[in-house]
Amino acid sequence: MRERRLIERIRKLAKPHAASSLVVQGIGDDCAILQLPPGRQLLVTTDLCVENVHFRRKWHPAPSVGHRCLARGLSDIAAMGGTPVACFLSLGIPTMGSPTFPQPWVDGFLRGLLDLAQSFHVQLAGGDISSAAEVVADIVVTGHAPASKAILRSGARPGDRIYVTGSLGGSAAVLHQLLAAKRVRATRSSTHFYPQPRIQVGQWLQKRGLATAMIDLSDGLSVDLSHICEESRVSASISPKKIPVAEGSRLELALHGGEDYELLFTAPKSARLPAHIAGVAVTEIGTIGNPQNYSSAIQILGENGSIQSLPQQGWEHFKRR
Ligand SMILES: [Mg+2]
Repeated sequence: MRERRLIERIRKLAKPHAASSLVVQGIGDDCAILQLPPGRQLLVTTDLCVENVHFRRKWHPAPSVGHRCLARGLSDIAAMGGTPVACFLSLGIPTMGSPTFPQPWVDGFLRGLLDLAQSFHVQLAGGDISSAAEVVADIVVTGHAPASKAILRSGARPGDRIYVTGSLGGSAAVLHQLLAAKRVRATRSSTHFYPQPRIQVGQWLQKRGLATAMIDLSDGLSVDLSHICEESRVSASISPKKIPVAEGSRLELALHGGEDYELLFTAPKSARLPAHIAGVAVTEIGTIGNPQNYSSAIQILGENGSIQSLPQQGWEHFKRR
C-alpha cells in the first residue's frame, strides 16, 4: 500500500464524530487545533509500542495491538482524573508497499485503535507514517482536567488509605501462558488483549476531590506504588491478603505483573469510598506511612504481624527469545 493511499484510508476511518467538538482541526492540515473548555488544562501523554517488546504479531491479533497501544495512553489520562480528547499516531511498518507485510494487519490495527477511541469519544487528529524494520507505534493522547485539579502522584499523606480498582495480575498470567507457548484465545473480555482504561473511575474521583494521589498500574503494583511513595515522599504498607488477585492469576503476579491498567490511588482515612465506582470494584489494600528511605518504602504486612519490605520487580517487557 502506498503511503498516500494509507493516509487517505486512515483519514476516512478517523472521520470526526459529533462528540469531538473540541477538535477544531483534525487530520489534513499542518497542525491539529484543539479547543480546551474554559477553566481546563491540557493533558498530554505519549507511549511507544514496539514489536517484540510490547507485543508479538504471532501472539497478539492486529486489533488487540491497536487497542493496547491506545489503552496505555488513555489509562494515563484516567490516572490524572482527566477527560481524553484526541490522539495522534505515528506508525512505522515494515517496508511500506511490500507484499511481505499484509495490509489486513494495518487495517486490523487501525480498527482496534479506532474502536477504542470512539468508545471514549476520542478523535484520531493527526500522525505520521514511515517504513520501519518492525512495527513501531508512537501514540500521543491529549485530554483535559480542571485547572490545578488533576490528580497527581505527589499528594499522598501519612495515614491515607491505598486503593486499587478491579483485579490485578490477570494480564501477566496470560503473558506467562504465551511465553510457555500455550495457546490463548484473544477474546474481547481478556484484560491482556483488550484492557479497559478506567476513565470514568478517574473522573469520578477527580470530581469529588477524594483521591490525594493516583497512578495507573502499567508496570506492576510494586513499581507503581513506589512511584507514588517517591513523588509523595512517603512510605506504604500493604496487606497481601487484601489484594484482589485476578481469576487464573496469583499473588506474585498481582504484586509484580504489569499491564493491568487499573488505577492505584490514595484517599484520606476519613473518605467514604463505595465498593464500586462506575461499575468497577474498589479495594482498600494498605496504608500510607511516614517518610523514609525509598529503597524500602513499601512493606508487606504478614498475617502473623511480620513485616517484610517489598522488592520492586515490576514488569520488564518480554525480551526476544
Ligand atoms: Mg501511567
